Amino acid sequence: MGRVLIIGAGGVGTVVAHKVAQNADVFTDIMIASRTKSKCDDIVKAIGNPEIKTARVDADNVDELVALFNDFKPDIVINVALPYQDLTIMEACLQAGVNYLDTANYEPLDEAHFEYSWQWAYHDRFKEAGLTAILGCGFDPGVSGIFTAYAAKHYFDEIQYLDIVDCNAGDHHKAFATNFNPEINIREITQKGRYYENGQWVETGSLEIHQPITYPNIGPKESYLLYHEELESLVKHFPTIKRARFWMTFGQEYLTHLRVIQNIGMARIDEIDYNGQKIVPIQFLKAVLPNPQDLGENYTGETSIGCRIRGIKDGKERTYYVYNNCSHEAAYKETGMQGVSYTTGVPAMIGAMMFLKGEWKRPGVNNVEEFNPDMFMDQLNKQGLPWHEVFDTDLEV
Ligand code: NDP
Repeated sequence: MGRVLIIGAGGVGTVVAHKVAQNADVFTDIMIASRTKSKCDDIVKAIGNPEIKTARVDADNVDELVALFNDFKPDIVINVALPYQDLTIMEACLQAGVNYLDTANYEPLDEAHFEYSWQWAYHDRFKEAGLTAILGCGFDPGVSGIFTAYAAKHYFDEIQYLDIVDCNAGDHHKAFATNFNPEINIREITQKGRYYENGQWVETGSLEIHQPITYPNIGPKESYLLYHEELESLVKHFPTIKRARFWMTFGQEYLTHLRVIQNIGMARIDEIDYNGQKIVPIQFLKAVLPNPQDLGENYTGETSIGCRIRGIKDGKERTYYVYNNCSHEAAYKETGMQGVSYTTGVPAMIGAMMFLKGEWKRPGVNNVEEFNPDMFMDQLNKQGLPWHEVFDTDLEV
């Protein structure tokens, strides 16, 4: 049915490759390309399908990307490299006539700043070229937006309050490690908190607001309010929302390490001079921290991510909670990666599948909640991320 090019051979790229290979009726030709080709070859070995092609590419370089696209001629690119590469890959897609999907919004390297404006600015060019770009198709952003669109379509006349709740109750048995790229993860968590209320953005201190939230099959966990990129697109696409917030759990041990890392300057993203060489402290830190791809083996416990929604249906107030729990152990058994990579990679594959099946074909730059959520929700149940619904319960938030 279609040719797919996966860019990035990290934890998420590994899961995407496994899931794409499992759906050979949709993805008939597959290539994995990344900065380090041997990592792509290792993934192909783990999958055991020598038909999957690999290539080396520097995704910061538009010309290299265009040459690769013209050679392999993919129908769609799944970008699971880093957010820094979003714009170069989008630019190359326009030049070579390829459709685009990613899981994280563009961030400039020298500024921890999350907003869609840079990518939304490509809308007219993608539209004129008849190409579809799908932004933020991991779990959060991604499934969080699809859950919201599904709630709006089936259960609410008006969504008024949206709380996205993200719990990782897993244990990787390391003193400190991040579950996805440490540089991106630490940049995200150490920024100021922000949420949307009554048409305005309210800024908070970093991790200043927190409360216990009870997660299914897990129990109560301290959850911290932080800014997350899908809030921006969701309040735009569902303008009845009065308040939108994002919560994530962190253990005390993790927060203590994070505080020390910040206090000693290791979270800095500016260049410093070290023995006549320029280094960026957070990039050096990444090099000495455990590799998120290697965490899977002894990872126990599960993640639980969902949307807690309050709004109006037929003139009456109602609440709705939709969530998925994902076992790290089961994710590892299937793909060799832990649950955080799994919950990101599976939706990225499903998004590309929706495009190739013609369900999500819409020239222009689109966030996931702009598409019909029904087929995607159906695939989540079939592809390893089953979801559950609770109606008219106490949402706690
Ligand atoms: P990793 O760091 O494990 O992998 C990133 C991969 O991209 C590596 O293989 C790396 O190459 C490659 N890469 C980096 N720079 C370039 C470049 N210039 N050219 C080519 N390849 C490059 O990250 P993850 O797999 O954990 O995360 C991947 C993406 O998923 C990130 O954008 C992250 O923000 C996003 N994500 C989204 C989530 C969601 O729910 N929406 C949740 C978690 C992650 P090399 O191997 O040589 O270093």
